[in-house]
Amino acid sequence: MSSRDDAAGLRCPRCRKPAVPAHAPFCSAPCRDRDLLDWLEERHVLPGPPAEDGDAGPEGAAAQGR
Ligand SMILES: [Zn+2]
Repeated sequence: MSSRDDAAGLRCPRCRKPAVPAHAPFCSAPCRDRDLLDWLEERHVLPGPPAEDGDAGPEGAAAQGR
């Protein structure tokens, strides 16, 4: 009768449905995955210097000698 099944009253942060213990604090695997992906994407955009591809090696000059 009591609502003891909803993972201690947790709610899915994505869709606000009652969370299930198996996927707490989310309501389902898709919601959990979606949130994880969002989190990873946010982490991906880190401010920093762009990786430069300085491929101007001495190879070009070496090819000039006959
Ligand atoms: Zn959900």
